[in-house]
Amino acid sequence: MNDMKKLIVANWKMHYGPVKAGGWIRAFRRERLPKELDVAVAVPFVSLAAVRASLGRASIPALAAQDAFWAESGAYTGEIAPSMLAEFGVSACLVGHSERRLHLGETDEMIGKKAVALQKAGISPVICVGETEMQRKRGQANRTVRTQLQAALKGLKGDGRAPVVIAYEPVWAIGSGRPCSPLDAKQMHDVIRPVLTKAFGATSEAIRIIYGGSVDVRNIGEYMTTTGIDGALVGGASLDPRDFGLLCRAAVPS
Ligand code: PEP
Repeated sequence: MNDMKKLIVANWKMHYGPVKAGGWIRAFRRERLPKELDVAVAVPFVSLAAVRASLGRASIPALAAQDAFWAESGAYTGEIAPSMLAEFGVSACLVGHSERRLHLGETDEMIGKKAVALQKAGISPVICVGETEMQRKRGQANRTVRTQLQAALKGLKGDGRAPVVIAYEPVWAIGSGRPCSPLDAKQMHDVIRPVLTKAFGATSEAIRIIYGGSVDVRNIGEYMTTTGIDGALVGGASLDPRDFGLLCRAAVPS
């Protein structure tokens, strides 16, 4: 993935087994995509092979996973090591999505370990951070995001072949149809940027901070034209390949 371009990551969540996943890729490959955009698709583990096969020689969208474990191998029944994902040609992987924090009890420490393991395997960790509605109401949004971020960045490199991506995803905006305004998202991206600078120095400038939470074809343009927002993580609006193609085109002004 090119650091200078905006990045759109589709997150299918727990949708599409191998058959439907292959169909999605074949349909999406017919979409005309702006050259100024990096596009990745984060798919369930069991669909990675089908997606790879349907992509053929195409490198767009880049193949991404939705999670990985921190150990290289061992007695961790049910888990998948980053090196296994690398064998499939996975180039990016979500880590710390709020749905995993909520339903599977993932902690900041676990997320940090996963991010480090991914980067070591040459996979870009897409680190998801974001506050709950209650935390925002109580004025704790900035502190929450800073704490999540600082824990996740421990041990990571700011540059190299697997650049970190930060996804700011306010929990209350995910799947709710209530997106965070581009201005509020920008405000949080402006909180995140100095944390990256402190952790990585000048190399942090190449780290993309993307926004996620009820992004769709109607609002993507506003986010993409807001300074400080380097892309989007898109859940529901990525499930239809043609609609997602439209969204990608709407992300780049013609
Ligand atoms: C997500 O799954 O990360 C997400 C942002 O979902 P949605 O676009 O549906 O809000």
